[in-house]
Amino acid sequence: MDAVVEAVTILENNPAYNAGRGSVLNVKGEVEMDALVMDGRTLGSGAVSAVRRVANPIQLARLVMEKTSHLCLTAEGASKFARAMGVPEVPEESLITDYATMRWKKNLNPDANPVKCQMGEMGTVGAVAVDKEGNVACATSTGGMINKMEGRVGDTPCIGCGGYADNQIGAVSPTGHGETIMKVTLPRLILFHMEQGKGPKEASDMGLAYMKERVSGLGGVITVDPTGQWAARFNSLQMSWAAAQQDQLHYGLYHGEDFTEPV
Ligand code: ASP
Repeated sequence: MDAVVEAVTILENNPAYNAGRGSVLNVKGEVEMDALVMDGRTLGSGAVSAVRRVANPIQLARLVMEKTSHLCLTAEGASKFARAMGVPEVPEESLITDYATMRWKKNLNPDANPVKCQMGEMGTVGAVAVDKEGNVACATSTGGMINKMEGRVGDTPCIGCGGYADNQIGAVSPTGHGETIMKVTLPRLILFHMEQGKGPKEASDMGLAYMKERVSGLGGVITVDPTGQWAARFNSLQMSWAAAQQDQLHYGLYHGEDFTEPV
């Protein structure tokens, strides 16, 4: 849990990604973020949806898991909980990049093709991890979809859609068009294939293929099992990913790429 929350915190702080600072904007030009964590030991989970003015929604999601009896807090209730937990409120402008503003304006143009503007331009962040005892965890964080309606909640904070972790099977974190991921509950579907005996790579490909065939959805996932097998698979044009195992770092961006370096 520490590893996945720390990894996602770093990515939320990096303005290149659609999470935390750098989030895409809703139709009103505002930042509303979703995040989820799940602990494979207990199936404990915590999430926030449509949350505003926090730098690291993933840390707030972990607090929901650890400090409340609920799984998900939303909007103003999530902000109130953040204040009660002493999480600092940050100015909204500190989360908004020039790039996000430019894309928001471009998409307000009625001639813009919303699908074209979204594809290849997503950038939700996620992490999965397995420790030496076979405990798995996942974390996912996003600003959502460009120019989404105010109050729109995507796949990310929904358990089984924005991620799932179970020590008996493995852990998955996805990216892609949230409404499509939710229709097939992609992470839980992939874990179902692993329960049936498939490895992370084959199960991930099967889940992504089903989403493509059934609801024309493209996306990507990172998957681990409790023995340390892992996969980073996608049928979108690209997905930036990295994996660290023992003293090796693997990473890639396009199909067929898997660079390896010593850590
Ligand atoms: N899944 C995210 C959402 O729909 C978007 C993304 O993966 O970039 O909110």
